[in-house]
Amino acid sequence: MIIDRLEEIKERRELEVWSDPERIPGIDLERIEELVKHPPQFCEDKSECQSRYVSGEYCQCIRTVFPHKEHYEYYKSVVKNRLEYSFELLVFKRGNSK
Ligand SMILES: [Zn+2]
Repeated sequence: MIIDRLEEIKERRELEVWSDPERIPGIDLERIEELVKHPPQFCEDKSECQSRYVSGEYCQCIRTVFPHKEHYEYYKSVVKNRLEYSFELLVFKRGNSK
């Protein structure tokens, strides 16, 4: 895929603003909870996402769902913790069923 130089600059600028550690909007925990329960479809087609070529994981699809990079990182950590927790529960149950 060929990306316009201007498009690329615009994309990098957007990503910069989105990741700015000085400007993190208040996090809406209910919204995060909602997203954990109903994970959004990020890039419908990764090869079609132009933004992804420049920003990788933090492409426009992610940026439209999360107001700031920190929100997205937080969401990922919640998802990861939940997975680990359910895995532990599973192991625990198995260990007790003897
Ligand atoms: Zn995307």
